[in-house]
Amino acid sequence: PVEQVEPDPDKKTLVILVPLPGTGWGAISLLKKLDTENYNVVVISPRNFFLFTPLLPSCTTGLIEHRSVMEPIRNIIRQKKGVVKYYEAEATKVDFENRLVHISDDSEIKGEVSNTVVPFDMLVVGVGAENATFGIPGVKEHSCFLKEVGDAQQIRKRIMDCVETALFKDQTEDEVKRLLHMVVVGGGPTGVEFAGELQDFFEEDLKKWIPEIKDNFHVTLVEALPNVLPMFSKQLIDYTESTFKEEKITVRTKTMVKKVTDNSIEAEVTKPDGSKEIETIPYGLLVWATGNAVRSVVRDLMNQIPAQKSSRRGLAVNEYLVVNGTENIWAVGDCAITNYAPTAQVANQEGAFLARLFNTMAKTDDIERELKKLSAAQAVAKNEEERNKVFDEIKERQKQLRRTKQIGPFQYSHQGSLAYIGKERAVADISWVSGNFASGGTMTYLFWRSAYLSMCFSTRNRCLVAFDWIKTKIFGRDVSRE
Ligand code: FAD
Ligand code: NAD
Repeated sequence: PVEQVEPDPDKKTLVILVPLPGTGWGAISLLKKLDTENYNVVVISPRNFFLFTPLLPSCTTGLIEHRSVMEPIRNIIRQKKGVVKYYEAEATKVDFENRLVHISDDSEIKGEVSNTVVPFDMLVVGVGAENATFGIPGVKEHSCFLKEVGDAQQIRKRIMDCVETALFKDQTEDEVKRLLHMVVVGGGPTGVEFAGELQDFFEEDLKKWIPEIKDNFHVTLVEALPNVLPMFSKQLIDYTESTFKEEKITVRTKTMVKKVTDNSIEAEVTKPDGSKEIETIPYGLLVWATGNAVRSVVRDLMNQIPAQKSSRRGLAVNEYLVVNGTENIWAVGDCAITNYAPTAQVANQEGAFLARLFNTMAKTDDIERELKKLSAAQAVAKNEEERNKVFDEIKERQKQLRRTKQIGPFQYSHQGSLAYIGKERAVADISWVSGNFASGGTMTYLFWRSAYLSMCFSTRNRCLVAFDWIKTKIFGRDVSRE
């Protein structure tokens, strides 16, 4: 373990507003690759762990236990050199003009001080995004989201609560049908993967453990657009929709939810003739997965910077991920607006790029400092020979400086898109195989599993996930409601 000492005053204070090795994809990736001997890093996040989101849908049914996809920030920091601090707190406001980050401890246990400020020289915002609700009434009050560990735990509990309540003595037939109707809103990858996992749970375990529910348990996926998974090719969209049909998941496309109550959704359905109709769909469990919205701390920062006026979906950044209208604020991941989709893959590459950029900047500072010293030495050189020696060294350092300064802008390299669709099948659009390779099916599923296993944060995570898969194969998922 690295001894925690007071921050070195000669260094800059780098505050990563979330994960440095921080806690989300962008920040963790930055922290991992950053040479922390050159910066005083302060990680601020209410979540003291990194979450491997691609396997979060599997945690909703207990296929994977949530702790298997979490990596404690303390474990990450422990392996860094220099001083890296972590505060379990939310960044509530970035004071752009005074270079301050206001932080607040919103956890259950609070000390005498739970609000304070952290000054910064350079700031990296990596707070991600929140769940989009589009202001639709009732969404926040009645549905479950699927972004954090707590969401997956809540869903797992509610599935079993719906099942057990449906089996309550003398329950009416309509109520049993409603309670066992699992509705997922949003046909993006989050909604599709969750629907697939839920149907697997029913087919592989619930049906066997609780056969009384087998005629009424039903999953419906609701999507406003004409098809699900719009980022995948037409062939894979068709493959997903036909697999869902086989799995008996109902896909309701061209159905836009407009209102949510505690037991039903109201949706505007576009009929084949183009006419529109309002339909009420009762549900027992409602999972809302309609994409990202800007966090309030990011919106507030945008409002302080005139150059961000026209930006709507997050912080507009330049090709070096510098927030437009600032010189010392960078943004990574879902809170930054680039030409790429808000994915873990993009956030991960952005974090790694910033680490390279900052490491280079630190090296440049070192060389410039040395150049100053050499110039002074040249001025007081005693003879021609000494002067020439210093001159050669200066030339060498200047060459080094030019090389170091040649870091190009951020370029994203797309490795492909993968999504699990249930029934041990996955879809993949992979660009690194000659041309564009689109595939779906069991082989793709095995590829999906091995790819995600290899991408897990640590060997510990990899082992835990593999054990969970084996455990479930042998014993089935645990249906206790806890
Ligand atoms: P996040 O990873 O969301 O991290 C944000 C961090 O900021 C968190 O630690 C949070 O606690 C912290 N935070 C929030 N507010 C504050 C605040 N005010 N102050 C300080 N800290 C704060 N992408 C893929 O490429 N492939 C996939 O297979 C995939 N699967 C996904 C599955 C699910 C269920 C979900 C929800 C997303 C998935 N994604 C996937 C998308 C991917 O997870 C995101 O694009 C990625 O997490 C973005 O990284 P980020 O660092 O910007 O934000
Ligand atoms: P998304 O934005 O990809 O999809 C949301 C869907 O909800 C859209 O298709 C939209 O038309 C629909 N929708 C919006 N409002 C609606 C309404 N009122 N009624 C019905 N449908 C409505 O969101 P996501 O799936 O949460 O994904 C967020 C990001 O994370 C994306 O960039 C995605 O690529 C990424 N992600 C990737 C993976 C993966 O690669 N396997 C998995 C999960 C998430």
